Amino acid sequence: MVKITKSRKGGPARSSGPTADKPQHLLRVWEAVAQRVRQADRIVLFTDFDGTLTPIRRMPGAVCLSAAVRELLAKMARNGITVGVVSGRRVRDVRARVGLSGIWYIGVHGYEIYYPDNRTELFAHADHRRQIQLATRQLIQLRKVPGLSLDDKEATVAVHYRRASSQNRHLAWTTIQSVLAKYPNLHLLSGKKVWELLPDSRTSKWTAIQFVLRSERSRYRGHSLVFYLGDDTTDERVFEKMRGITVAVGKHQRTAARFFLYSPAEVRRFLQKLGDFATAKSLGRSATGGNGEGRLSRMKVTLDSARMK
Ligand SMILES: [Mg+2]
Repeated sequence: MVKITKSRKGGPARSSGPTADKPQHLLRVWEAVAQRVRQADRIVLFTDFDGTLTPIRRMPGAVCLSAAVRELLAKMARNGITVGVVSGRRVRDVRARVGLSGIWYIGVHGYEIYYPDNRTELFAHADHRRQIQLATRQLIQLRKVPGLSLDDKEATVAVHYRRASSQNRHLAWTTIQSVLAKYPNLHLLSGKKVWELLPDSRTSKWTAIQFVLRSERSRYRGHSLVFYLGDDTTDERVFEKMRGITVAVGKHQRTAARFFLYSPAEVRRFLQKLGDFATAKSLGRSATGGNGEGRLSRMKVTLDSARMK
């Protein structure tokens, strides 16, 4: 279990707790969800990457997306679903692993946004980046410690400890605490086997998603049904705030999500079902002449094989 923290001591900072109602298994109640999909004018799908689209690996650099899931995402985007991949990784990293152009990417927990038309935006002021640089210098000694790795993401800096001994984990933790004591404006984010220092607590996956939704709504009218899938505490903030279909992956307790799936393998089954609906909706519009919206709203998506690892 992981926590977003506002306090330097790691105390929970969630604005509200998990939902009183237990989440439902998404595939078991699919018919009810499908009804909402049918009624929507537009579908928006945001999904986390590690632990959601792909299983967690011991080495973060070894994670790659299966060709089948890549094709499912591409097919949905081509058929009018707005697709966004959301990650703690840098955009250039997650883009390389997903291997698609023409969709949204949100990186570094919301600090980076990559538009479908290839523009990039970094939501960190120069003084924030400067603070992270100073913190990184203090953490640099951890690079040589077995089992630890340092990830400088410009807007944030992360220490991964999945392969570290308990002694070396303790060393990482005490070093981070000394950095936080020196730079009290920084905020600590604890994820799955990773501690990350952020320049502030205002930017998050949720603020980035709101940004994308505002951009989408300025272009498309009608009722949008928004999906969000994720597996970590950074995703919990989105689950708490977002209306729509929120899906926790790999857990069905202590989550604010309304639905859950057991694994990335089940996520793939869900994507297949949603993709089939998108295809049917898209073809339906074409067959009936529709209002042209289906054709207008399609994203130009390409497989970007040169970027894939
Ligand atoms: Mg994740």
